Amino acid sequence: MVEIRDLHKSFGSLEVLKGIDFTVDRGQVICVIGPSGSGKSTLLRCVNLLETPTKGKVFVEGLELTHPDVDIDAARRRVGMVFQQFNLFPHLTVLDNITIAQRRVLKRGKAEAVRVAEENLAKVGLEGKGRSYPAQLSGGQQQRVAIARALAMDPDLMLFDEPTSALDPELVGDVLAVMRQLADEGMTMIVVTHEMAFARDVADRVVFMDGGVIVEEGSPDRVIGAPEHPRTQTFLRRVL
Ligand code: ATP
Ligand code: MG
Repeated sequence: MVEIRDLHKSFGSLEVLKGIDFTVDRGQVICVIGPSGSGKSTLLRCVNLLETPTKGKVFVEGLELTHPDVDIDAARRRVGMVFQQFNLFPHLTVLDNITIAQRRVLKRGKAEAVRVAEENLAKVGLEGKGRSYPAQLSGGQQQRVAIARALAMDPDLMLFDEPTSALDPELVGDVLAVMRQLADEGMTMIVVTHEMAFARDVADRVVFMDGGVIVEEGSPDRVIGAPEHPRTQTFLRRVL
């Protein structure tokens, strides 16, 4: 369902992704781990075309997003993304944050957009928060709004870039619980995370990146429980 083939990305002379290949089957959860600067965010940003890959291909549900003729908006719509910093519009209510792209991009009418927004707010445990402004919510609630906003676009794939790293520790669990529920419902997900317990429990596969390449990948028990590569071992000693 998602296929990443020989993906390269350079910024000037700095080669950040040096040929990444992997596939994600429908309904699978892939957790990407690795040290700072290894290219994890760049990889996600290439998958939803926030960055243009220097070389290589990305397919989602058979559509080549990297094809020069592809409609970028249509392609991006298939891929939801949740960032470390929630990136909500501060001057818009929660409801408006969740309806704006539905209306502008999907051309949904107001009533339908509101209905979908409310459904997704309920799903992330924030029923009744539609009239609040982001600043009136905790970080964990804001992040769950960001998840609801992405889900409202009916994506084929959800990308998460360290979604809990900016949260106070006591708020992390609620966000991870929503992600776990999404995974259980069969959402296809690529999750960059430092939450090794989450990766162990939820991921179908763990990918360890370092220096712009995939060093090791496999089941969570294999990669986190019994890493084979010295670089993976060193990384895990530091984070576990
Ligand atoms: P972290 O764990 O700290 O989030 P990461 O694995 O997500 O790290 P990236 O953000 O993908 O790493 O960055 C990989 C490398 O690419 C870094 O050296 C970074 O400085 C560089 N880089 C990322 N974006 C740009 C950009 N827009 N222009 C120039 N260099 C960039
Ligand atoms: Mg990053």
